[in-house]
Amino acid sequence: MFDILKSELTRRTLLYKAGFGFMALGVAGAVGTILRPMRTLAQAGPASTKEPPLPPDKKLGWAIVGLGKFATQQIIPSFGECKRSKLVALVSGDRAKAEQYAQQYGVNPKNIYNYQNFDSIRNNPEVDVIYIILPNGLHAEYSIRAAQAGKHIMCEKPMAINVEECQAMINAAKKSDRKLMIAYRAQYEPYNLAAIELAQSGKLGKLKAIVSDHGRNLDPKDPADRWRANKKLAGGGSLYDIGIYALNATRYITGEEPQEISAMMYSTPGDPRFGEVEENVNFMLRFPSGVLANCTSSYGYADTKRIQVFGADATLELDPATDYYQHRLTIKRKDGNEERNIEEKNQFALEIDHLSESIIQNKQPKTPGEEGLQDVRLMQLIYEAARTGKTIKV
Ligand code: NDP
Repeated sequence: MFDILKSELTRRTLLYKAGFGFMALGVAGAVGTILRPMRTLAQAGPASTKEPPLPPDKKLGWAIVGLGKFATQQIIPSFGECKRSKLVALVSGDRAKAEQYAQQYGVNPKNIYNYQNFDSIRNNPEVDVIYIILPNGLHAEYSIRAAQAGKHIMCEKPMAINVEECQAMINAAKKSDRKLMIAYRAQYEPYNLAAIELAQSGKLGKLKAIVSDHGRNLDPKDPADRWRANKKLAGGGSLYDIGIYALNATRYITGEEPQEISAMMYSTPGDPRFGEVEENVNFMLRFPSGVLANCTSSYGYADTKRIQVFGADATLELDPATDYYQHRLTIKRKDGNEERNIEEKNQFALEIDHLSESIIQNKQPKTPGEEGLQDVRLMQLIYEAARTGKTIKV
């Protein structure tokens, strides 16, 4: 992965090392070396360059449940880049919308379901996997119904509202002998994989600290943000929605589980968005190796998705770290900064194909239900630490 554009990387490194930071930006920007060209997801590289795609009749058939913003803008279009997965069915409360997407993406209208007749999907042999992209409060119910229909399950993050729901989902998948994967896309995304490799291989020296900030300004005018202010549908506030990326990152970067948690929470008084769910949560985690993590999660500050990893020899910065595309990875050492330029790939296609591949090979996916359960368990402890003001031992 690191061989990609090595010569360009060397040039960048030299420019930084020469101490020509701003001058280099201007000069090199003009010849297109330092300034990254704007890329859309559609222009990102194919999901996997190594493996040839399966013939269409061998690809696993996927059904999408909930045709909202994320499903229609990111997931459904990504099937075009999948090598092991194809879109074959849609589940929606809005028939007209479902018909429109079915026509656009070549889904047979007989494979459109609603929430009432969803269970009859068990009789459809074209559907192998059901992907739940509903508000968080509905993840458990539809994942369990999908398992009972004999289908494999992909479920969006956060896995569910509480630990009991997560466990019930895991049990239902086990009982039906189906795979259950949580859609932690960052764990399939090349820049995050490079950060994991750098952190865990010792290339930054002994890890000391992680700082991660994930937040955005909740927009009550956006229909996709309305249910996020409703405790029953969202489960929690910024932490459940976006702070979860910071929490999950501390775990995949270290490869460890936290042992101690402390936290503080604050919501702007009188802000109608935060009557039921929290605006800001800052939390600290201590890992067994001694790494301390310091994370912020917000529904009040402007778009931020970054991870910093502090090692004894170097600091790694991913910013943006968990965007849909256009990531940036910088390694800072005493003798200069190095920017890694890694080929962007469609992380949605990668994670979808990962589950299909896990099913074909009968392997546990990399981010199974247990991974989602652990984050929900830790988020509940973060809330408890914030409420009580006590440091909690996990
Ligand atoms: P949206 O509100 O845009 O979509 C949710 C869809 O669920 C609706 O469009 C609707 O689809 C269906 N739905 C069924 N019942 C309800 C209900 N009671 N209230 C609202 N919608 C309902 O939300 P998002 O697409 O932003 O989020 C959906 C899920 O995806 C969440 O779990 C979220 O955390 C996750 N997500 C993950 C991201 C990632 O990067 N991994 C990014 C964004 C979201 P229909 O009209 O077809 O029935």
